[in-house]
Amino acid sequence: MNDLSAPRPNNLDAFWMPYTDNKHFKANPRMLYRAEGMSYFTPEGREVLDGTAGLWCCNAGHGRREITEAIQKQAALMDFAPTFNMGHPIAFEAAARVAEMTPDGMDRVFFTNSGSESADTALKIALAYHKARGQSSRVRLIGRERGYHGVGFGGMSVGGIGANRKQFSALLPYVDHLPHTHQPAKNAFTRGQPEHGAELADVLESLVALHGAETIAAVMVEPVAGSTGVLVPPKGYLERLRAICDKHGILLIYDEVITGFGRLGTNFGAERLGVVPDIMTMAKGLTNAAVPMGAVAVREGVYDAIVNGMPGGIELFHGYTYSGHPLASAAAIATLELHRSEDLPGRARAIEPYWQEAVHSLRGLPNVIDTRDIGLIGAVELSPREGKPTERALAIFRRCFDTGVLVRVTGDIVALSPPLIIEKHHVDRLINTLGDAITAEAA
Ligand code: PMP
Repeated sequence: MNDLSAPRPNNLDAFWMPYTDNKHFKANPRMLYRAEGMSYFTPEGREVLDGTAGLWCCNAGHGRREITEAIQKQAALMDFAPTFNMGHPIAFEAAARVAEMTPDGMDRVFFTNSGSESADTALKIALAYHKARGQSSRVRLIGRERGYHGVGFGGMSVGGIGANRKQFSALLPYVDHLPHTHQPAKNAFTRGQPEHGAELADVLESLVALHGAETIAAVMVEPVAGSTGVLVPPKGYLERLRAICDKHGILLIYDEVITGFGRLGTNFGAERLGVVPDIMTMAKGLTNAAVPMGAVAVREGVYDAIVNGMPGGIELFHGYTYSGHPLASAAAIATLELHRSEDLPGRARAIEPYWQEAVHSLRGLPNVIDTRDIGLIGAVELSPREGKPTERALAIFRRCFDTGVLVRVTGDIVALSPPLIIEKHHVDRLINTLGDAITAEAA
């Protein structure tokens, strides 16, 4: 048995925490120390039910021995070896396992270490593809408002979150954005995909008219936007986006960092939503987050244009020291084996109706202006406190944490994305605790 007693850090100063109000946190630290199954445990031993699968990533639940043992075994066998002009078997096997899960024809897999790196890799592949085909004027990249594609300069620029960009003035040039698809006035309290808003995809036609198709390389969207508050695409929207891309020779990139690996009850969002892109990014659930790893899968035609279009030598001048890292590859293989043997997407599908009922049962509580869901994702949108946006949702987050449930807050939205191994009694506890916090915060 491991020693489970928590070390007490006596200096919180050195760690500059990411996406955190450091001053506030360090005055009121909130620590997690141990994790198992559906739960975290604080250093004091208090259990906190994980309503967010970490950060949308521990889809198979925490502390899965199958994964940790595979990592340990690989660490003992070979800690690291490069994949530049040499290889190790486990990285090839991991790529083949990913290719088995991706939509048909998207069987070429490039490894990265994170969602951000996957986003920038996908954008670079799109540019290289057009150049390889003699269309080097196609340099424009189109994202979407409220899109999140990580924090690299590519993903940040193509992403559509003002707060992420305004501190860093020099962004990628030749970037434009589609409108986001969130229309609460028309679609509030929708279950699954909203009815209204497919025509928002047609803005892409306007951008083509404005810039010229011959200047546009790719459009990048999340099938379901997660980090900006769970924005589910309206019915027919992705179909229209796909059709316009096809008409004008524009590549369609999906950022499947959240929607991949069972979150929507299918291997990828592309399958659930019925529209397949040309390039897709992934990370998070790929290794159950036990070791950082991301990947980009591309259609054969994209790979072929770049790799077989070159006369010889290195075809894509891009890669990471840790692309296909042995420990990450071991974690990915073990994770994807769990997906298969435990049919995690099937489990998510089976509990989705119960989950949906539970999420929408919060309708009618004070200040709740929308509830929405798809797969094992849910969101509760609150009316902002006057003059103090985000404060109400943050207060609810704190109440939930203090009463033993972890939820995620983004703006005035509480987002939920539990591990796919969730059972009905966990759903009840999660939703009841959240409901109580919403009610208490209004009192
Ligand atoms: N894309 C999407 C859709 C994401 O949700 C995230 C992370 N939340 C990222 C990219 C960035 O991933 P990472 O933090 O691993 O760089």
